[in-house]
Amino acid sequence: MTMKPKPSGAIPDRMIYERRESGVRSYARSMPRQFGKAEGVWMHDSEGGRYLDFLSGCSTLNYGHNHPLLKQALLDYIAADGIAHGLDLHTDAKEAFLRTFEDVILTPRGLDYRLMFTGPTGTNAVEAAIKLARKVTGREMVIAFTNGFHGMTLGALACTGNAAKRGGAGVPLSHVAHEPYDGYYGPEVDTADLLDQRLSDPSSGLDAPAAILVETVQGEGGLNAASPEWLRRIADIAKAHGALLIVDDIQAGCGRTGGFFSFEEMGFTPDIITMAKSLSGMGLPFALTLFRPEFDQFSPGEHNGTFRGNNHAFVTATAALRHFWSDGAFQVDVRRRGDLLDARLTRIAARYGFETRGRGMMRGINTGSGELAGTVTAACFDAGLIIETSGAHDEVIKVLAPLVIDDATLGVGLDILETRIREAMTSEYAVAAE
Ligand SMILES: *Cc1c(COP(=O)(O)O)cnc(C)c1O
Repeated sequence: MTMKPKPSGAIPDRMIYERRESGVRSYARSMPRQFGKAEGVWMHDSEGGRYLDFLSGCSTLNYGHNHPLLKQALLDYIAADGIAHGLDLHTDAKEAFLRTFEDVILTPRGLDYRLMFTGPTGTNAVEAAIKLARKVTGREMVIAFTNGFHGMTLGALACTGNAAKRGGAGVPLSHVAHEPYDGYYGPEVDTADLLDQRLSDPSSGLDAPAAILVETVQGEGGLNAASPEWLRRIADIAKAHGALLIVDDIQAGCGRTGGFFSFEEMGFTPDIITMAKSLSGMGLPFALTLFRPEFDQFSPGEHNGTFRGNNHAFVTATAALRHFWSDGAFQVDVRRRGDLLDARLTRIAARYGFETRGRGMMRGINTGSGELAGTVTAACFDAGLIIETSGAHDEVIKVLAPLVIDDATLGVGLDILETRIREAMTSEYAVAAE
């Protein structure tokens, strides 16, 4: 299997990006190529270079690039002049999606949620969730967690921990308290106990919260995975203190951690769930906020938007639900492959005294240094592997391979990663560590 990109890597007209595209562009900086095609787990640049994709559009492509069944469903829909715009009308595509979501996801899990179609980005689903929780409870304050990432619009950004991202707001980000996530003070300190204590103490200064907003695995914040016990405690604490529990499943959901939802079989049921990223299954923008029926309290259009029904995304999402989630086979396979990934990463990490992070097919290696992790991921890219970092200091190398990757190809990518870590460790960093 050869995948070495052509060494030139020239971008046909690099200057057009320099001249016209805003300097806010980011991923393109660490992957300075121009991409034209992709299929399955592979991306191709315009110079004939081929890349194994361990980023999956930041987990928007859990089923791989241009999955044949999803692509055909979309081609058929467009060929038949299906509705393409995004107003929240009733459409054939929306009906099929709602029915399929009910049949394939909700009913078999014994879950009862209303589906709210928000604007098509994850941050919009989070805005809707926290607005709804504030409306339902009549409270203002939301509890979010250290290292949490929830999006870039002001409400969601206020819930995000990262200082560089928060700095872009230009106004105070308020009405959110950031409490320590599971393990923040090390294994000895139960941060759920601390939260309960503060909420139960009338003199702690912590206002009664409208919601507790949590990721089960922190996608951008360093792949910290909360334990099921801790999450159950947080669910109990929310209930005891009259707050709604919001699980932000935008990155950890859609099979990334095994189940369709990341909290399955953990023994609690969120009041509100946010989803986006891999929901359309094809990288098309599509976000959802799910809530228990008793919280369906927005009046018509109270949280509105022009793109609250991406019909093309409904079509591909429906095809993905039918193909991957109608029975348990896919889930079993993802869990098995997640164990494989864990075993391999653990072996690599142990060699250098690093630790692994994450759960399911959402795992990585904490190198303890953003510089080291950046050196490794850049070297991986040069060797034809697309892979990114995560964490407060970008110190965690994050594997987000498509869930459909076969074991052998997963191994090929991990071989590249292992080699590049070894090279980085035997050069400057090994010397620096002495
Ligand atoms: C990506 C992400 C978001 C924001 O989604 P956008 O589509 O980028 O707005 C919110 N929460 C989590 C957990 C995410 O990973």
